[in-house]
Amino acid sequence: MKVKMILPALTEAESPYWRPIKYSLFPPLGLATLAAFLSPDDEIDLQDQHVEQLNLNDNPDLVLIQVYITNAYRAYKLADYYRKKGAYVLLGGLHVTSLPDEALPHADSIFVGPAEESFPRFLSDFRKGKPQKVYQSIERTLATLPPVRRDLIKRNKYLVPNSIVVTRGCPHHCDFCYKDAFFKGGKSFYTQQTDAALSEIARLPGRHLYFLDDHLLGNIRFAESLFEGMKGMNRVFQGAATIDSILRGDLIEKAAEAGLRSVFVGFETFSQENLKQSNKRQNLERDYEKAVNRLHSLGIMINGSFVFGLDDDDKDVFKRTVDWGIKHSLTTATYHILTPYPGTRLYQEMERQNRIVTRNWDLYDTRNVVYKTTLLSAEELKAGYDWAYKEFYRWSNILESSLNHDSAKHALKHFFYTGGWKKFEPLWNFIIKTRGLNYMLPLLEAILSKVSSSKKNPGAEIVSEVEDYSSLLNPG
Ligand code: SF4
Repeated sequence: MKVKMILPALTEAESPYWRPIKYSLFPPLGLATLAAFLSPDDEIDLQDQHVEQLNLNDNPDLVLIQVYITNAYRAYKLADYYRKKGAYVLLGGLHVTSLPDEALPHADSIFVGPAEESFPRFLSDFRKGKPQKVYQSIERTLATLPPVRRDLIKRNKYLVPNSIVVTRGCPHHCDFCYKDAFFKGGKSFYTQQTDAALSEIARLPGRHLYFLDDHLLGNIRFAESLFEGMKGMNRVFQGAATIDSILRGDLIEKAAEAGLRSVFVGFETFSQENLKQSNKRQNLERDYEKAVNRLHSLGIMINGSFVFGLDDDDKDVFKRTVDWGIKHSLTTATYHILTPYPGTRLYQEMERQNRIVTRNWDLYDTRNVVYKTTLLSAEELKAGYDWAYKEFYRWSNILESSLNHDSAKHALKHFFYTGGWKKFEPLWNFIIKTRGLNYMLPLLEAILSKVSSSKKNPGAEIVSEVEDYSSLLNPG
């Protein structure tokens, strides 16, 4: 059987915000995971429109398309196209789960919720000639998951080909998050067996890993045994965790010992009112500064995530948030305009209050205002969001933020990482075009290598660090 798996490009691909490097980071791991359930005799073509031109001149028997909110219209067009050609078309993913009725007219079958158990069920029905229209996720377990079909991933097209997911979901219930809608009707947080996760890690070449889990520290027992097993594997890795998990116990130290060098943290807002409104209880009354200092002391870089436009936000929120990030040496910051995704409690509440102003899903990219605001006008919110990005990533602010570190090595890593990520777009585009992304991995690994905190002789530290990095760029 000929099978085509497609991740259509998000709508941002055609917007002025499009940064090819941002969308060349992670391969479509979800589709490669489902591909593992197909038969070795099946001919599988996995295409990611973010990094390659789709080949539409083929005639697959089965087409599976992953649908996010901002690629939904593109996904539906592709689905209609392949159905006209006679293929059997499947749609699944976050948006299909939120709005199954919208997706159904474009598909032969749809998947609601995670598909690791329903996809093999579909395949069995399909081979018997009796597929159903809707496949709901019934059982939630990763115990029977076959190894991800990494052979289908075009590694040279991604900066982070070693992406990995060892859990599903998250133990928390923030109102603006897709998580509860996606996992409705069953377990909403579960993990792999530690041994299975460790053998998946062992399959990945090089040192660098990126855990795409929503909350890598969410299950303490699992995380402890994972980090224990990773000790001595000589890995450096990045992942996501909550403020609460960073402050509690010594799990973060164990993660650092296992190789955690950079963490994505959802600070979201400094307002307790906003946290309560969003049901972000794990951040309530937590000391953000203490969490940041703890991460810095462990040599872990921080990508702070913030949301603008919650009901308690006023005109000062942008400056307050950017200044705090610079003062506390956040390595990178990700800002979002609050977005009520369909299926979430935030969406339901806004709908009840008649505050949704558009249902053009292309605008639901966290860069546009799609609801009626309160203290800020929509224009102020949009302008403040744009200003925050520009301001945080100004060279002078990158320098100031870097120099706020205690250690000179830390300062230098910060400067390289942030500057390299945000300020060299033409260079990234060139590297992508020349298929050289893979060659950047040793540099990334070097920047993420361990820093010993020391204020002694910062000049010598900087010279030796610069020599290390330049030798990686000029190995000859
Ligand atoms: S902590 Fe993050 S992943 Fe978990 S529910 Fe909240 S926003 Fe979603």
